[in-house]
Amino acid sequence: MPVLNVPRTPALAEEEIVLFENSVARFFDDHAPESRVAKWREDGIVERAMWTEAAQAGLACLSTPEAYGGMGGDYRHEVVLMEQLGLKGVDGFGLSLHNSIVAPYIVHYGTEEQKRRWLPGMADGTYVTAIAMTEPGAGSDLQGIKTTAKKDGNGYVVNGSKTFITNGQTANLIIVVAKTDPAEGAKGTSLVMVETDGAEGFERGRNLDKLGQEAADTSELFFNDVRVPADNIIGGDEGQGFVQLMQQLPQERLNIAIQGMATIERALALTLDYVKSRKAFGKAILDFQNTQFVLAECKTEATVARVFVNHCIEQHLHKRLDAATASMAKYWVTDLENKIVDRCLQLFGGFGYMAEYPIARMYRDSRVQKIYGGTNEIMKMLIARTL
Ligand SMILES: Cc1cc2nc3c(=O)[nH]c(=O)nc-3n(C[C@H](O)[C@H](O)[C@H](O)COP(=O)(O)OP(=O)(O)OC[C@H]3O[C@@H](n4cnc5c(N)ncnc54)[C@H](O)[C@@H]3O)c2cc1C
Repeated sequence: MPVLNVPRTPALAEEEIVLFENSVARFFDDHAPESRVAKWREDGIVERAMWTEAAQAGLACLSTPEAYGGMGGDYRHEVVLMEQLGLKGVDGFGLSLHNSIVAPYIVHYGTEEQKRRWLPGMADGTYVTAIAMTEPGAGSDLQGIKTTAKKDGNGYVVNGSKTFITNGQTANLIIVVAKTDPAEGAKGTSLVMVETDGAEGFERGRNLDKLGQEAADTSELFFNDVRVPADNIIGGDEGQGFVQLMQQLPQERLNIAIQGMATIERALALTLDYVKSRKAFGKAILDFQNTQFVLAECKTEATVARVFVNHCIEQHLHKRLDAATASMAKYWVTDLENKIVDRCLQLFGGFGYMAEYPIARMYRDSRVQKIYGGTNEIMKMLIARTL
């Protein structure tokens, strides 16, 4: 029986998408069993082979046009992938970032030559990608970044340091947000592609030790006089970076809401199973009115969230999702995710605090959802601008 009273948006119920969903679920059952994911958490990184396996299964660049080696799907395929990653507990595998955060910058703004240069390799597993915006001194305030890309002969020289970069140890193709004209603020910002294989002056720093999402290789990156060809500026022209970021961030924010929704549904399903079987005072935990009320509230709020996420997905499929609505989804669903996971964990009692229980991991993994992709405070600022 489905956990929520409202199904996902009808766009995801089409036969082709359901078949695709089954194949993605099978892929994770076969390639990401709990024992393998546990090893990635222990190592602090998803093994490189998994990227190749996913690419071979046709899961890389799902919404990239076939003309550039992609799978020729659309955002519905990316939604399915994000949901399955959440529902199957494959935490820390940054494939959605590769597919539906990095690839769109090249698809939407790349020159024809750039699309042909990078997208096929992203689809076949040659490239693993990352996007490096945040710096030790600037996160929310992106205009305050210090990394520069200075014109020099027939190329650019990149200098600066980045931190908290997802896929940081694995990525060999990185979008670096840099100032091509530091005097110009936002208008002097460009997205510079750095191909790291053999790049002199490029260094990976620490793979950071985190509260959760341990399998994700969130890292520091350093650029010391790294030379890139002039045609590595995404779109070809300097100064477009900020506008490109602002246009693409709503999708990133919706992605986070969708991941949050998958976690909410998984948390409720796991908790329902548990409270039906665990006994205290001679009855199932579910038989206590408190448990019923807590879960009734969680189910109600999750259902409301589902309706809103469905609405946002539909809007986005019709290219109508505005930045403020995407920010509402990101902030509200991730706040709810943290609240529901916490309340569910409580119903597990002491077992909920044990690392071997998925609900404990979900509790730790969820926390960052309120922070990355723009903090929930920044989301409220963006919403407030529309008041
Ligand atoms: C696991 C993880 C993965 C990440 N992956 C990436 C990645 O792949 N690429 C990337 O570029 N970055 C990534 N980040 C960075 C992330 O996007 C930033 O951490 C986030 O944007 C916040 O920036 P900050 O850490 O500098 O916090 P700060 O900007 O220093 O904010 C500190 C606090 O102040 C608040 N604050 C800031 N400005 C305001 C304001 N104007 N009004 C009210 N409150 C404000 C914030 O909301 C926050 O609570 C990742 C972070 C984590 C933890």
